[in-house]
Amino acid sequence: MSNTKYIFVTGGVLSSLGKGISSSSLATLLKQSGYKVNILKIDPYINIDPGTMSPLEHGEVFVTADGAETDLDIGHYERFLNTSLSKGNNFTTGQVYLSVIENERKGNYLGKTIQVVPHIVDEIKSRIKAVGKGYDFLVIELGGTVGDIEGLPFLEAMRQLKHELPNTQVLSIHVTLIPLIRAAGELKTKPTQHSVQELRRIGITPQIIIARSEKPLSKDLKKKLAMSCDVADDSVIEALDAKSIYQCPLNFLKEGILTPIARHFAIAPIKPDVSEWDMLVKKIISPKDEITIAFVGKYLHLKESYKSLTEALIHAGANIDTRVCIKWIDSEALEHTQGAELSDVDGILIPGGFGSRGIWGKILAIRYAREHKVPFLGICLGMQLSIIEFARNVLGIEKADSTEFAPDTSHPFIYLIEDFIDQCGKSQVRTIKSPMGGTMRLGEYECVLRPQSKIAAAYNHAKVVKERHRHRYEANPAYRALLEENGMQISGESKSGLIEAIELEKHPFFIGVQFHPEFTSRLQAPNPIILAFVKKILESKGATQKSR
Ligand code: GLN
Repeated sequence: MSNTKYIFVTGGVLSSLGKGISSSSLATLLKQSGYKVNILKIDPYINIDPGTMSPLEHGEVFVTADGAETDLDIGHYERFLNTSLSKGNNFTTGQVYLSVIENERKGNYLGKTIQVVPHIVDEIKSRIKAVGKGYDFLVIELGGTVGDIEGLPFLEAMRQLKHELPNTQVLSIHVTLIPLIRAAGELKTKPTQHSVQELRRIGITPQIIIARSEKPLSKDLKKKLAMSCDVADDSVIEALDAKSIYQCPLNFLKEGILTPIARHFAIAPIKPDVSEWDMLVKKIISPKDEITIAFVGKYLHLKESYKSLTEALIHAGANIDTRVCIKWIDSEALEHTQGAELSDVDGILIPGGFGSRGIWGKILAIRYAREHKVPFLGICLGMQLSIIEFARNVLGIEKADSTEFAPDTSHPFIYLIEDFIDQCGKSQVRTIKSPMGGTMRLGEYECVLRPQSKIAAAYNHAKVVKERHRHRYEANPAYRALLEENGMQISGESKSGLIEAIELEKHPFFIGVQFHPEFTSRLQAPNPIILAFVKKILESKGATQKSR
């Protein structure tokens, strides 16, 4: 029998309490204590993956190295744990039902009636066990809130696992909210009591309560919570709003979360080494320097959709003791002001994006960066648009465009490749008529860097790097020579010749990348190109200040 210890994290009272950060923080503490830790996010919705959901519905779609479009919490897990996860680390109700139905069609259930119990629940358990295999701990975060209809089969799977395994192998943590009633200045425990009752009704008693609160919990209140939720007195963990999400593992440690965990699992005291983590968090909270980057995007009312990128900027900043302030600029608004907002920023960043809305504003920002020699990084759509801007304003090809916005353009600098070789060496076909789900170039690809280029220097002169993709369109190699003759270098390409990176020769830092570097950035290992960008900004800012 496997010895993996399972830690289930459920949420109560309401959503958005930071279950993802709580799960990541806990997994980080265990990993820093020398354990082998894996982590799993279960999403109770019916979509197969979040790939086709609007960012307004779901925030960012995070892409794993093996090309899965996953929940944004997987991004937090990778950033905290400094590790690459895969397809199996996130599954949805839709995926579970799909496998069961496929098995039924194949006749694998020998004519039985297929039911939620046992078939769906068994599928859930076997997926959980598969992710835990070979690890000391598996932290499982269940999306949604206890009481949701959709969550029931997962809670049942959790109950059954607890029943099947020894007590010392399954632990349940409930993350909940202790609301503050302002008029009375009082913190209220009742919603938590109800949520725990709901869990107990279905046979699960949490051993630890993580209590999110705006105000510190008094000793008495903690005692009352422990009493009413039937957990040990040391098992109510206060989780106040933190200055940085990366402070959460340190806060949990101070609150003593590892004591009841070690006791429950009957193992020796768990002692993490958090010295490096602590130092990085100090640099996030009170850094020496500060820079401001213009972030020109179109989902600005929903900053969650740029989560990995804003986190990557924090990582890069922490590593050079610098606060990276973001000036959010709505690309559509920029079209009306002709770029006035860009005059006081130290660097310009164009993130990825889809569709034609806001394109003009982004091109305007790119032109500004190019002409005023402001450090610039264009990611995915940002790279595609910097090629279009160059073609229009330097090469004078006014009609230069992407077939994404102008399907019949006479100058398709960005176009749809209908077949290409994927990262597993398989040939992929996609056309304008392909279904939306799962037809993008997704996941990790090798990128061969041009020696002596700025991007190669950023990657410490590596010849080949691996970065992750999520896009449909590509830069058209038919224009390669024209671009290069006029000063835009192709500085990175895939093994099969797709254009992966461009840079301008006569510019201190103007780089565009077809991949999403933000997906591989971690607090302890910032992404090299984003780090180089932030460093360059700090350096040029220092130089301008000196020359003033
Ligand atoms: N819309 C572009 C494409 O599909 C860019 C995508 C992106 O920026 N992630 O190619």
